[in-house]
Amino acid sequence: MSYVFAPPAVTAVPVTSGGSFPVHRVYCVGRNYADHAVEMGFSGREPPFFFLKPADTVVPVAAGETGQIDYPSLTSNLHHEVELVVAIGRGGSHIRAADAASHIFGYAVGLDMTRRDLQGEMKKQGRPWCIGKAFEQSAPIGPITPLAQTGEMLTGSIQLSVNGTERQQGDVKDLIWSVNETIEQLSIAWTLQPGDLIYTGTPAGVGAVLRGDLLLAQVQGLQPLRVAVR
Ligand code: MN
Repeated sequence: MSYVFAPPAVTAVPVTSGGSFPVHRVYCVGRNYADHAVEMGFSGREPPFFFLKPADTVVPVAAGETGQIDYPSLTSNLHHEVELVVAIGRGGSHIRAADAASHIFGYAVGLDMTRRDLQGEMKKQGRPWCIGKAFEQSAPIGPITPLAQTGEMLTGSIQLSVNGTERQQGDVKDLIWSVNETIEQLSIAWTLQPGDLIYTGTPAGVGAVLRGDLLLAQVQGLQPLRVAVR
């Protein structure tokens, strides 16, 4: 069988130990740090909920490089959300939290870029978040470090600065739903596949970026992620 046009290229994220990680799906967890849930007007205690971004919204940034993203259309309030990203290496469904680590290939630093004004409007109207969350270049990610090198990442500082000024600061230990619990919940709703990325949520301090801004996203123990907005 021949395709009627060339299939799209596979999005692939560099791996620190060599090779690259082909992306299947991108899952995101909403409001997974209590202080961020509070800043968004919620109590910070609710079951986890998820949304997806298409694989081709991922912007892989190699070690030592600065990724470039274009300021997107339709918004005047583009927000940064720094997140620990979990890369799934072994698929499965109904994975128990106690077994979740054996499904993790590695970890990376990611940005869940958000058209906050559009997301807010969709929330108000009870409509899907896609237009606020799932736009092109909305999911920059740094290199993936294998779990074999990091061990299970249960704690570690997570932070984001814009033009050298700190905006977000937290610790992965403060996730409402831990990485392992997130994998358990997610794998009940969807069958996880090798190549899936999970953006695990952002701590407090989300805010707007402008054209010309330089973002530095960091999680302790992982390669930093630098992104410029143009
Ligand atoms: Mn997020």
